[in-house]
Amino acid sequence: MTTDTGNPDGNRPPHGWAEIPEGGTPTAEPDPDYIALPPGLPCTTKGPWGTDCPEPAIVAWRGKATCARHSHGHWVEGGQVMHWVMRYRPSDTPVE
Ligand SMILES: [Zn+2]
Repeated sequence: MTTDTGNPDGNRPPHGWAEIPEGGTPTAEPDPDYIALPPGLPCTTKGPWGTDCPEPAIVAWRGKATCARHSHGHWVEGGQVMHWVMRYRPSDTPVE
């Protein structure tokens, strides 16, 4: 029933597109800007009053360790940090 391409680790977040553009396919791809972290590190995101986020960090980006909620849709799968990108089949790409 799902159009997902598979979710081997069961931890993919929703892709976040309310509507899929014509010809588009939300595609999970590795994001080389992020690195996967070993377990046990805290999320370094601060709350509105400088409080520490209580959740464990899963990825790092530019030296900041962030949890699933603060990683802007990134997740770890097979040791790689993944994110959603919208991909279009070449034949469906409108020519401007
Ligand atoms: Zn956090």
